[in-house]
Amino acid sequence: MHNKLPTKDRLIRLRIPNVIPLCVMCKIGEDSVRHLFFTCRSVYNIWNLCNNWFGMNSVLHCMPRNHFLGFQLCRISSKCLSVGNTIWKLRNDIIFNNKVFDSQELFCAIQVKSWAVVRAKYKNATFSYSDWCIDPVTCISMLL
Ligand SMILES: [Zn+2]
Repeated sequence: MHNKLPTKDRLIRLRIPNVIPLCVMCKIGEDSVRHLFFTCRSVYNIWNLCNNWFGMNSVLHCMPRNHFLGFQLCRISSKCLSVGNTIWKLRNDIIFNNKVFDSQELFCAIQVKSWAVVRAKYKNATFSYSDWCIDPVTCISMLL
């Protein structure tokens, strides 16, 4: 998964000079795929917001197998939610555009992007963005 992403640990392994390995979101861990998507304290809050949004309280993002099974139970993949893409984009915005980490803003971006992805994938979807934000599980059940 994402093993081609130019995370800082990968850039260091490729001997790219002047790379500071610190995660720009939590400023504690090392910028690696595993850290960014599964163990970063800052990103953990995002996964919790997503899990709660889907009514899942027992699925932990740091346990990838359970995480993906949990979202499959809701009949949607986390890829469809665009969580990974949105986290990666924010990480790059922090590095290259001096953006500040804001978990609520990131969660809202995930809601917007996932709504756009679902609407593009299911042309017959009739629910609104508000419906999607309030009850995504019911929205998905209307599609299947
Ligand atoms: Zn981190």
